[in-house]
Amino acid sequence: MIMPSERKNPAWAGDKVIVLPFGKPLVAVPVEKAVFFPGTRDYVVVASRFAERIREDGYALVVFPNPETGVASSVATLAALEIVNPIEGSENFQLGLHFIYRARIADFKHTQHPQGKMTEIIWELLEEEEITSASWNKKDVKEQFISLQREVKKILDRAPDALEQRFLTVLRAKMFREDDQRKAEEVLYKLVTAFDSLKRVRRELLGPALDAVAHALFELYYILKEEKPSKEGLKLVSNVFHTVLIEERLRRLLKFTGWLVDNFEFIIDGEEETEETGTKEAVENEKGVVPPQIAALLARYQIVESHMPEEARQEFERELKRLIHGGGKDSAVETRLERIVSLPWEKRSSPPADLRGVKAILDKDHAHLEKVKDRILEFVAVRMLNPRAKGRVLCFVGPRGVGKTSLGKSIARALGKKFVHLALGGLDDVADLRGHHHTYLNAAPGFIMSLIRKCGERDCVFMLDEVDKTGKNWRGDPASALVEILDPEQNYQFRDHYLDVPFDLSEVLFITTANVLVTINSTLMDRLEVIEIPGYTDLEKLEIAKQHLIPRRRAENGFPIVRLGLPQVDVVFADSAILELINSYTREAGVRWLERELDMIFRKVGKAIALQDLDIDGIVEISEANVSRYCGNPKFSESDIPKVLPTGTVPVLAVSETGGSLFIVEVVMNRHPGRRKIAMKGVRYSGEGKDTVNQIAESLEKAVDALISDGKILFDAFKALEEEEWLCPAIIGGSLTNGAIPKDGPSAGLSLFLAVYGALTRKSIKPRVEVPLLAATGEIDVNLDTVGKIGGLRDKILAAARHGVKLCLVPKANEADLEDVPEEIRAQMKIIPVEDRWEALMIAYPEDRERIKAYLENRSL
Ligand code: ADP
Repeated sequence: MIMPSERKNPAWAGDKVIVLPFGKPLVAVPVEKAVFFPGTRDYVVVASRFAERIREDGYALVVFPNPETGVASSVATLAALEIVNPIEGSENFQLGLHFIYRARIADFKHTQHPQGKMTEIIWELLEEEEITSASWNKKDVKEQFISLQREVKKILDRAPDALEQRFLTVLRAKMFREDDQRKAEEVLYKLVTAFDSLKRVRRELLGPALDAVAHALFELYYILKEEKPSKEGLKLVSNVFHTVLIEERLRRLLKFTGWLVDNFEFIIDGEEETEETGTKEAVENEKGVVPPQIAALLARYQIVESHMPEEARQEFERELKRLIHGGGKDSAVETRLERIVSLPWEKRSSPPADLRGVKAILDKDHAHLEKVKDRILEFVAVRMLNPRAKGRVLCFVGPRGVGKTSLGKSIARALGKKFVHLALGGLDDVADLRGHHHTYLNAAPGFIMSLIRKCGERDCVFMLDEVDKTGKNWRGDPASALVEILDPEQNYQFRDHYLDVPFDLSEVLFITTANVLVTINSTLMDRLEVIEIPGYTDLEKLEIAKQHLIPRRRAENGFPIVRLGLPQVDVVFADSAILELINSYTREAGVRWLERELDMIFRKVGKAIALQDLDIDGIVEISEANVSRYCGNPKFSESDIPKVLPTGTVPVLAVSETGGSLFIVEVVMNRHPGRRKIAMKGVRYSGEGKDTVNQIAESLEKAVDALISDGKILFDAFKALEEEEWLCPAIIGGSLTNGAIPKDGPSAGLSLFLAVYGALTRKSIKPRVEVPLLAATGEIDVNLDTVGKIGGLRDKILAAARHGVKLCLVPKANEADLEDVPEEIRAQMKIIPVEDRWEALMIAYPEDRERIKAYLENRSL
């Protein structure tokens, strides 16, 4: 009788015709490590007794081994022998096999061979499925395959995790012997990797991957059952192999997986229930009654899950299961899941405009700042060409109100991105940035992730303000937290402690700002691309006010105001009025207060109209004369430096967060036999200002040393020195607040040197024709005559100009920086670069010039 399958003979085996050995028992080749899919070729290693027999038959049957029977399932793969290679130094042979068909195992018998046992199999070809690709409704095939893929993805994404968890628990609960347990874990590992490969393989490789999964599943099943596979189980497993149609195999595999999960889930749930909750409600929930809020969470999750990293998905699903299991009652877990799912996992801004558009917007929003805008454009150009460029992070450094924030906003607007803003100055704990671990009571995400969640775009522009304000008083290590957030090498998997899932921050365009450079942590500094934005001159401010601040304030306050039957009301400003506001009402490096004063004028006019003040009619002109009507009395007089400075008094220039500043120090020498003590009288300071004060004290000592070491010659008139009575210098006056920076201490050196000289010789630097109101900046060294370089020159000089200083002594080493000092400032004050401190002394005290010269000549002899 010819079996139906024998009609296949002769058969096509890939590229050639073969005659299948129907009716002939074949040798079973047990292969543990892999499953072979018909249509593929591979090598297997067998003992010589197998090789001989297979060479005789020309065919073999590859089976999954069962430790007892040597035959695992009812299915084998029929393979034609193509190559036989003896393996050197071994009894074994390597066989090159061509796998042709699935075969059903009808029966088997063990035969004893002189070299060991061998199994022969009576077989028949597995009938091919009724379903063939052709029999599928052609139109439906694609659709079916797509929906299948979707289904596969869904199950496969969860399966490894679910199976692993479930099976391991069952295995442990069943108290397997250690060996078995290890083996089971190996198989699990195989299963997980097989599933994993299944997710990634191309369609044409799906077959082998499916085999691997099926094989691993089968082994698992076998181990779990602890006994001979049940009929049902075997049927399910072998069923997977009974077809060569990939779609169908996939479908069956899924069914099998589902069956496994269902069955073993049941066992575990039973155990957990009695141990843990035991509530009926929980069981019901587990059986599918999902509370609506969880269903909503799940629905939202399904939208974003494909954009989440694997680890985040796993965590989410684990927690979701926990939530479902607990009946959806854990509001802390629910909140956390809600936070996770509402992150912008996939939401991005629309593609950026071209660079010309960016330039146009930057120019439109900001007057001046040409250098700054150029550097921003360079930076943006690089980012545009390569959005993932691992460059440094922009850092705008400059005093308050110079437009750092508004530049950031413009960049966002120009790139079509959302703008987020976080001021670090108000925080004092790294947990504010990174959140508290979710197990803490009332834990919440840090500001970084909450703001990104609120803004809803993963590639927003994120401004971190005041990175220079993350000082010692922070809890934790703010600098390293910031590096983690900003550094592209690290931030692609930023982990908020509360959310505890990685989130890719590398697409966020971070921009940092700082008021002063020196207080920025050096590790952080390495990652920053610093763009300094100095303060504005009065004329620049005037222009900014006219072009930007006034039009903006005008529009925001609803001007021009239209009145029924009456002329419309508007406010116009004379330049002199704006300059008056700049000079007498706001003394600042930026334009923040200026904007406020302007706003106040508009509001006052608006209020007067609302109150039907009859004085106001038509155009309201603000002139230098009537500014005080709206803004009150001037807050600053032209110069707040006394016209005649007392002996030993010198203005000191400094840089702080408000820009350049000027304060006056007064040095007095007290007689104090036997010891020298520096008193800092009347220097008010707080917080970080303390360091500055200490540094000033140090500079003062240096100044005193520098003069006293030469004192015998220079001050022989000064009896105190000969009497070896020490002098106690004291600094009087001056106000150093938090804004003061320690660097201001050393750079006050030159001023202090001048002041100490005045105190010792009882002279004052009187403003007069040759020496108008003078200020100085520069470092000094006890052993060197040279005046050392300082920072923030432009800001210091602008501050001096604001205070009416007419002569500025600056270090020669800073001469190049003078380029940044605007023309109009240089026109209104004399700036003299000095090389050594004696030169400065001769300028400040011209009456002593000859004496000092003589001393210097004498000294060099
Ligand atoms: P910062 O962040 O440096 O403290 P802001 O960005 O808050 O300063 O600036 C304060 C105000 O001054 C904003 O309204 C800003 O638009 C305006 N402003 C500052 N510089 C300029 C400029 N160069 N051109 C136009 N407006 C400016």
